[in-house]
Amino acid sequence: MPVLRRPAHERAVELPPRQGLLAAETDVLVVGGGPAGLGAATGAAGGGADVILVERYGFLGGNATAALVMPLMSFHTQRPRPEKEGSVDLLRTDHGRGEPVIAGVVSALIERLVKAGGAIPPSMKTGYTVPFDPEVFKAVTLDLLDDAGVHFLLHAFASGVLKEGSRVDGVIFETKSGPIVIRARVVVDCTGDGDIASYAGAPFEVGRHDDRLVQPMTLMFRMAEFERAAFEGYVKAHPDQWRGVHGLWDLIKQAAAAGELELPREDLLFFATPHDREVSVNSTRVTRVLGTDVWDLSHAEWQSRRQMRQIVAFFRRYVPGFKDAYCVQSGVNVGVRETRRVLGDYQLTADDILTARKFPDVIARSAYPIDIHNPEGTGTYLKHLPPGESYDIPMRCLLPREVDGLLVAGRCISGTHEAHSSYRVMPVSMAIGQAAGVCAAIAAEGDTLPRRVPVEAIQKELLRQGANLRELGQPA
Ligand SMILES: Cc1cc2nc3c(=O)[nH]c(=O)nc-3n(C[C@H](O)[C@H](O)[C@H](O)COP(=O)(O)OP(=O)(O)OC[C@H]3O[C@@H](n4cnc5c(N)ncnc54)[C@H](O)[C@@H]3O)c2cc1C
Repeated sequence: MPVLRRPAHERAVELPPRQGLLAAETDVLVVGGGPAGLGAATGAAGGGADVILVERYGFLGGNATAALVMPLMSFHTQRPRPEKEGSVDLLRTDHGRGEPVIAGVVSALIERLVKAGGAIPPSMKTGYTVPFDPEVFKAVTLDLLDDAGVHFLLHAFASGVLKEGSRVDGVIFETKSGPIVIRARVVVDCTGDGDIASYAGAPFEVGRHDDRLVQPMTLMFRMAEFERAAFEGYVKAHPDQWRGVHGLWDLIKQAAAAGELELPREDLLFFATPHDREVSVNSTRVTRVLGTDVWDLSHAEWQSRRQMRQIVAFFRRYVPGFKDAYCVQSGVNVGVRETRRVLGDYQLTADDILTARKFPDVIARSAYPIDIHNPEGTGTYLKHLPPGESYDIPMRCLLPREVDGLLVAGRCISGTHEAHSSYRVMPVSMAIGQAAGVCAAIAAEGDTLPRRVPVEAIQKELLRQGANLRELGQPA
C-alpha cells in the first residue's frame, strides 16, 4: 500500500512542542506533487532510495491539475515557421517542430497518458505540445508513483523545517491530524514557490530586477460543447482575426464598446484538448500580485473569477462556435506563474538561454523560448533560441546557497526573472525534478550532502533512467 502508513502508537515519538509527531523517516522527502515533484519522486525511487512525496492537495499534478494548466508545452527545438493568420490550428504555438530535448520520466508520463486515452502525443498536428485531460493526469500520476514504489501523503501542507546547523533534516506539515514531522536524509523542495528553501533561510529573489514585479496570475478554465466547424467558418471569413491559438480582436473591441468585456489581455488565448468539443481557456490576467502572499492570492481569486464570468458570457454571445458552450471546470486555484527564485550555486540567465549555452554539469535541457506575460498589463514578450538549438540547465541551479541537505526543483530553481520564464514550463520542470531526485538518492545512499555528489554520477544515473542529456563528450 503506497499511502504513507499512520505511525503505530508505540513507534510514535512526541517531538518538542510546536513540532508535532514524528510520522516517518526516509531517505528522500519530496515536498510538492506537481511536475517537478513527480519527476523528483520517480527519479529518486529509480535511483534506489526510499521516497516519501507529500502534497497539500488531495491529488497530484500541481499546476497541471489544480490550475488546469495545459497543454504540456513543446520540449522540441524550434524550426522557423511564420505565424499564419487565419489558421485554426488550436495547438499551433510555434514553439517546437525540431528534435525533442527531454525524455526520461516525461516520456514515461506521456506514454501512460496516451495509453489511458488522456493525451495526444506530440507531433506536427499538436504543434509538438501534449494536450491532456487533467482528470486522467490525476489518475495516471498516482499509478506512476505506485509503480515506482513511492510512498505519499496527501492533504499535508509544509509549514516549517527542522535543521541541524545548516542542514535541513526534516519538514513540519500541518494536517487534519495535527502537525507532523517527516525526517529525511535529503529533502527536495518541489513546492514551486521554494517554501522549504525559504523556511530553511536560503536566499531568494522575486520578480524583475528593477521593480520586483512577477508575471501575472491566470485562472484557467475548460469550456465544453464548443462547435469547431462554426468557429472555423468564422476564422475563414475573417482570416486576420485569428492566429493559431489567439486572436478575436474585433469581437473584443465590439464587446468592450458595449461595456460587456473588460479584458486584461489584448486578445483571447485558448487551446484544443484531447476532447473535440472542448477548449482550455488561458485569458484571465491579474497583475501586481504575488503567489506567496495570502492577501494577494485572495484578491487574485476574487478578480480572476469575475473575469472568467465575463469571458464565458462573451464567448457565448459574440464568438461563433460557442453559442451553447459552457464552463465545465475552472482551476482549484488561480494559476501562479512566478514567485521565489531560490539563489543557487549558479544563476541561469537570459543570455545563457538565448545563446544556447552548454554546461559541464548539465542535468536537463530545454529549448522553450523566453515567454514573459507582461507583469504590468497587456502583451506577452516571446524570444526564441536559434533554430535547432537547446540550452543546458546546470546542477548548480538546484543547490540553494547557505543551506545543505536540500535541493530545489521546478520553477523555483536559481535563475533570473527572464530565464525563469523559459524553464518554468511543465516538461522542463519535470526533467529538473528527475535530476534532483537522482542527486538526492545518491547523496542519501552515500550519506553525503547533495552538494558533494559528483555530477558525473548524477548524469550516469539520469542516462540510465532514459533522460535526454546532450552528448556529454561534446565541448561545453
Ligand atoms: C496560467 C498558467 C499557464 C501556463 N501554461 C503552461 C502551458 O501551457 N504549458 C506548460 O508546460 N506550462 C505552463 N505553465 C507553467 C507551469 O504550469 C509551471 O511552471 C509548472 O507547473 C511548474 O511545476 P512545479 O512542479 O515547479 O510547480 P507546481 O506545478 O506549482 O507544483 C507545486 C506543487 O507543490 C504543492 N505545494 C506548494 N506548496 C506546498 C506546501 N507548502 N506544502 C505541500 N505542498 C505544496 C502544490 O499544491 C503543487 O502540487 C503555465 C503556468 C500558469 C500559471
